[in-house]
Amino acid sequence: MRHLLGWGSAIIRNSSWTSALRNILPKRKKKIYNLGVCFEAEDVTVYNPSQLSDVQFLEYSNLSDGQHLREAVQNILIPRVVGTANHSIVRQYIVNSLRDLKWHVELNSFHDKAPIVGQLHFHNIIATLNPQAERYLVLACHYDSKYIPDVEFVGAIDSAVPCAMLLNLAKVLEEQLRPLQTAKLSLMLLFFDGEEAFEEWGPNDSIYGARHLAKLWEKQGKLDRIDMLVLLDLLGAPDPAFYSFFGNTELWFMRLADLEQRLAEKSLLERYVNSGVNNWDPTRYFQPQALRSGLVEDDHIPFLRRNVPVVHLIPMPFPSVWHTQHDNESVIDYATTNNLALIIRLFTLEYLLGAK
Ligand SMILES: [Zn+2]
Repeated sequence: MRHLLGWGSAIIRNSSWTSALRNILPKRKKKIYNLGVCFEAEDVTVYNPSQLSDVQFLEYSNLSDGQHLREAVQNILIPRVVGTANHSIVRQYIVNSLRDLKWHVELNSFHDKAPIVGQLHFHNIIATLNPQAERYLVLACHYDSKYIPDVEFVGAIDSAVPCAMLLNLAKVLEEQLRPLQTAKLSLMLLFFDGEEAFEEWGPNDSIYGARHLAKLWEKQGKLDRIDMLVLLDLLGAPDPAFYSFFGNTELWFMRLADLEQRLAEKSLLERYVNSGVNNWDPTRYFQPQALRSGLVEDDHIPFLRRNVPVVHLIPMPFPSVWHTQHDNESVIDYATTNNLALIIRLFTLEYLLGAK
């Protein structure tokens, strides 16, 4: 992904999330200003699932499998540039892991031309619990790694850890997600191919998979089935700070913040303290500020342009190892990773099982 603007001056609003929650009233249409353009988007706050009860919250919070998460990371953590044998190995690993858990997995394959390497065969991985569902919560990340000449780049945060977190979610919540195999509102996991640029980030050299899929689904009329696209990127380093980028999904961002707070109050987060490596207020991951103009280009852009509601979970600023050879397993903070994975699992359950 690419970060276009400085972020320090971009915080335009600051309020506690409890008051923000109270202040957000459902509205049918909302204008989003992004990419210099005004988008009019459906406001997804009209769907208002119940918060997890205390009993559910405790039960679901106790589910985890840290060993599986590590193993998943290690299986993905090899150079996996599009078109290489390793890329196929990782794709097959993701596909097999989900099929073993009884997910319906499809590949969306296509050809495109990239600088330096020429014609390439790309494959987005689309996994659903119910392929016939009417609506989906979509959790997404990219599984290719960046081609950097003369560097063995394995991309731990970019994005082996996010991929592993999604596989881990499917594994840990296998039983809890089972009713979604027949539900009208269900879950989709999306592993984009070709997020990385080969030469220089630009409209024709980046997010190959996301551009192809958003266009295809628009043509097929399938974009309306996406309630929301939650994109995970650059996760795994300690002390991440996330911000709400888009007004029409702010309520959902606040739910993530609220789940974090609820876990913290019950001391259910692992080593939930500042490691001291960063200098902003790191006492929480989900920051109670909106960040509207710190534009980050990533796989969500082709969907955002087509009015799909987006939550972009990417730390700001980016971890310092981003696009360097130091983005390897040594940078992964498993306590932070487990904590984030837990928050995302609770959010997923609240969203999908909380229908009234
Ligand atoms: Zn990258």
